[in-house]
Amino acid sequence: MKINVIYLLLVANVIYGQGRYYKAQMHCHSTNSDGSYTPVALVNKYKAAGYEIMMITDHNFLTDSVYVPGVLCIPSEEITFKRHMNGFFLKRKIQPTPEFTCQQAIDSVISQGGLIQLNHYCPGPFTDDDWEVDAPEIISFQNGPHMLEIWNTGTEGVQTHDDKSIWDAVLTAGKVVWGSATDDFHPSVLESLEFNKGWNMIWLDTLTKEAVYDALLNGRFYASTGVIINEFMVNDYGTYKTVSVSSSNATKIKFWGPNHVVLQENNGNSASFILQNHSYVRVELIKEGFLGTGTTYAWTQPVFLQNPTGIEETNDIAEFKIYPNPNKGYANVALTIKRAGNVNISVCTLSGTEILPVCHENLEPNQYIFQVSVAHISSGYYLLKLIYNNTIRTILFEKL
Ligand SMILES: [Zn+2]
Ligand SMILES: [Zn+2]
Repeated sequence: MKINVIYLLLVANVIYGQGRYYKAQMHCHSTNSDGSYTPVALVNKYKAAGYEIMMITDHNFLTDSVYVPGVLCIPSEEITFKRHMNGFFLKRKIQPTPEFTCQQAIDSVISQGGLIQLNHYCPGPFTDDDWEVDAPEIISFQNGPHMLEIWNTGTEGVQTHDDKSIWDAVLTAGKVVWGSATDDFHPSVLESLEFNKGWNMIWLDTLTKEAVYDALLNGRFYASTGVIINEFMVNDYGTYKTVSVSSSNATKIKFWGPNHVVLQENNGNSASFILQNHSYVRVELIKEGFLGTGTTYAWTQPVFLQNPTGIEETNDIAEFKIYPNPNKGYANVALTIKRAGNVNISVCTLSGTEILPVCHENLEPNQYIFQVSVAHISSGYYLLKLIYNNTIRTILFEKL
């Protein structure tokens, strides 16, 4: 193992937060299973509605990248057994056996370096009893799921919106799972009722597969059925945090906390909350409809008072990447920080065990490139993990 800081560069005008939200559909069906549009037609239909990221999730069918200019397609599948779970960033199709379990689905996706979402798991008039997964069961799963489908247009469009109680129960237990909104478009009934009603807005500096993976893994996205979030800011003051949100069309903002309790409610399109006496808070933005119909929402990811894992809450990391990726020899790790601090970078297994240190020292604000040999670790997926001033960031990379 050979680790060197090979050179330092002066930083000029480093701006964090370059980027914008990209609209993503993370659950829809094509003619590869029970959908009625071909993959290309489906992507074009969503593209016309402003989508730039697509996960086509056919039942037990891996739909690989579909080439439509301006849209990034992530190879995905709806792993369909008793329960339904979407696997994203898949390399190989997952064919569940009839006795498959959620844990097996999670393990299968993780072993390919993918991300996994639990779909339409809440009880409701249009959900199959077999699909239901309660909070204790979700809490019992290891290494996943990464996301819960807190909105599924196909099954939830007709439900009341108190069904985030399971998500809150999981978060209250300290398990970090992000909330995702999707269409589950087939269409099966009326196309207009199923299309473009639930989506995720993912914050990226560039539209690449790696950037989408990193943003989804670290919860840099929000779920929406129509409410637009312009700004979502978290400031860490050590013993407390402030969470501020602003929207262009919300009329009401609710701050939800442990045990599915509303901690604060504000009218209008912007609000702030001081997180001090609760383990987490998440924000629900509401645009009230007319006479109780047409109400739309946005849901931010939870902010924890103590970072449980992977929560990105600093503006001080301007760059953190590993290249080339995939790699089989020497990898370069680029880091640019805007504030002095203790930096700990290591190569970890997907379950978080450190196997290779890269850097562990106090660093001044600057741009750094570290070189690390990955020649001796076995082939597969790893996480490059950065711990810096109590912030954790991870990047998935592949050793060939
Ligand atoms: Zn399904
Ligand atoms: Zn589906």
